Amino acid sequence: MRFHKAELFFFLLMGLVGLGGGFAWAAFSAATNGVVVGGTETAARFAFMGAVLAGLSVVCGVFLIYPIMSRGLRERGKLQKMTESLSVRSQSLEHAAVTDGLTGMYNRRYFDDALSEYLSAFGRIDKPIGMVILDLDHFKKVNDTHGHDVGDEVLRQVADCLQIFTRYHDVVARLGGEEFAILSPNITERQLFNLSDRIRQAVADLKVQTGNVTLKVTVSAGLAIWNGVESGEELYRRADKQLYEAKRQGRNRVCAA
Ligand code: GH3
Ligand code: MG
Ligand code: MG
Repeated sequence: MRFHKAELFFFLLMGLVGLGGGFAWAAFSAATNGVVVGGTETAARFAFMGAVLAGLSVVCGVFLIYPIMSRGLRERGKLQKMTESLSVRSQSLEHAAVTDGLTGMYNRRYFDDALSEYLSAFGRIDKPIGMVILDLDHFKKVNDTHGHDVGDEVLRQVADCLQIFTRYHDVVARLGGEEFAILSPNITERQLFNLSDRIRQAVADLKVQTGNVTLKVTVSAGLAIWNGVESGEELYRRADKQLYEAKRQGRNRVCAA
């Protein structure tokens, strides 16, 4: 069995204290003619030895054990700080993995996971779920005419509109490029249509300022209500088909299955 340096010093301290205590007891006994007999001279010798050992104990505690203890505590503090900052870093990495950097919205990965979770959870309690896919109209032209930075600003403002109009348990995500999606549980087709149309109107009302030009954009949306048996992929395809229909009919509109 191997001992740590601090343990060895601790045993040494215990030995010194024990011996010191022994000499103190012997000095007392000699002075009072107890078990150890010898008179005042012997008592003084034992008392002196006891005092020397007490001094050595203090030296051992202050110069050997205390530095090791305080170093250990400092290292533990540093380690704790490092662990805390690592856990904050890993939390922010987890957050980054499901968030879109430009808009701060959830990304496609999060949306896909939420979709399968919502379908199984709401399927069990037999509640409806609706999906809306939204795509900005002629967005390429915005970039080509006003530049990519202005395009980015448009995306951020559209994202804000979506966040404002949706409820806390709706999942809102940027699926990629200028395409967004909403997953809305416990909602009828009419309610989902009205929600989508309010968002469409709010986007059409946006005034994005670029230099001395005020830019207007529109969005098209397609929606579908889960039929209770189809997969998330199938639900997405039905909503996307309606988005295509909205584009085909002239854009800046909502189409439902
Ligand atoms: P449609 O009405 O048919 O949807 O036409 P559209 O121009 O919106 O569609 P298209 O797919 O032709 O172009 C999409 C454009 O979106 C092309 C690309 O440059 C732009 N885009 C994709 N991601 C970003 C982005 O993160 N920032 C900016 N500024 N533009 C992006
Ligand atoms: Mg588009
Ligand atoms: Mg698109």
